[in-house]
Amino acid sequence: MNTRKVLAYAAYKADENLKPFDFVQRDCQDKDVEIEIYYCGVCHSDIHQARNEWGGSTFPMVPGHEIIGKVIAVGGAVSKFKVGDWAGVGCMVDSCRACSHCKAHEEQYCKEGVTWSYNSMDKIAGRPTYGGYATHIICTEAFALSISKKFENNLAATAPLLCAGITTFSPLKKLGVGKGKKIGIIGLGGLGHMAVKIAVAMGAEVTVLSTSENKKADALKLGAHHFALTTKAENMQTLAGSFDAILNTVSAPIDYNAYLNLLNIGGTLAVVGIPAEAVPVNPAILVMQRKQILGSLIGGIAETQEMLDFCAEKGIVSDIEIIKVQAINEAYERVLKSDVKYRFVIDVKQSDMSK
Ligand code: NAP
Ligand code: ZN
Ligand code: ZN
Repeated sequence: MNTRKVLAYAAYKADENLKPFDFVQRDCQDKDVEIEIYYCGVCHSDIHQARNEWGGSTFPMVPGHEIIGKVIAVGGAVSKFKVGDWAGVGCMVDSCRACSHCKAHEEQYCKEGVTWSYNSMDKIAGRPTYGGYATHIICTEAFALSISKKFENNLAATAPLLCAGITTFSPLKKLGVGKGKKIGIIGLGGLGHMAVKIAVAMGAEVTVLSTSENKKADALKLGAHHFALTTKAENMQTLAGSFDAILNTVSAPIDYNAYLNLLNIGGTLAVVGIPAEAVPVNPAILVMQRKQILGSLIGGIAETQEMLDFCAEKGIVSDIEIIKVQAINEAYERVLKSDVKYRFVIDVKQSDMSK
């Protein structure tokens, strides 16, 4: 029996700071890998859920779904990993694996409901799943990602690929982003800066659409070809009709109609940002120029592996600020102020998780 006490940081209530928390690890099943966590990225979705902004949060909640760690134990039937391997865990730790969506490698849309890495129910343990702000996690091998040797010197900066990377790679690929395409990225945050790197690597002409004038130099350094301050009405007029696709990575409600106006005929506004509030859309803008809005949730496991391999090949990792776990509450406040360059990553291994 697994008696490991896992040390973690948890939100005990929606309106309280995160604090130390511990739980006893469940047993490793035949196909499970047990991972000692080294790094975990801080996604804005962690904040939405820890603060119950989407509703339905369960507490105590251990957030974190951009996880990189070392495999320290494997079940008897595991073939993909051995003890000592690096492994990644993203937003999902399991799904039904039998429904048509799972069979089509889109486990994130599982008809039976995904087992999320946290704020979900662990079917084996009969308790909530606990995420990456913790010393250990257990995950079925089918949902653990292989980490290329090319990332070995940069594991902390690799962690954000597990959510921010796949969430932007998947719609960009679906949109056929590549040479000759003009792409706008709304919001230069955790997701947005990954979207810029990936879209540039795919060969597109990329414009960052940002509310922060002070991010212009960074945007260009990240590889973007242009930067536009969206709070300036004049910029929004100049850019009208100029993009094949725009990816909205913003965590807050924004004026969709204003961005639909920036699309060329037949263009797509792809949406990954999930604010707590709904936003109005003017159907006439869609109809009169055959424009569309496309939602996208992370990506399937096979596609996540494909994204990791693409990023390893292209030398893409995240731009990060490393923190100890004790700085997590301050980090949340800075994310809310759009003041992070461009993803916080908790150095779990170097943090004293007990205090
Ligand atoms: P983030 O690091 O906070 O970045 C969001 C960026 O949006 C900010 O840096 C800022 O960029 C812009 N922004 C923030 N507030 C704004 C406002 N009021 N008006 C206009 N722009 C604003 O967040 P993230 O971690 O990238 O996550 C972004 C969103 O994606 C969150 O809602 C998150 O839950 C969601 N998400 C979705 C998926 C999915 O599968 N669909 C996966 C992960 C995350 P500028 O300073 O450049 O304007
Ligand atoms: Zn995330
Ligand atoms: Zn399923």
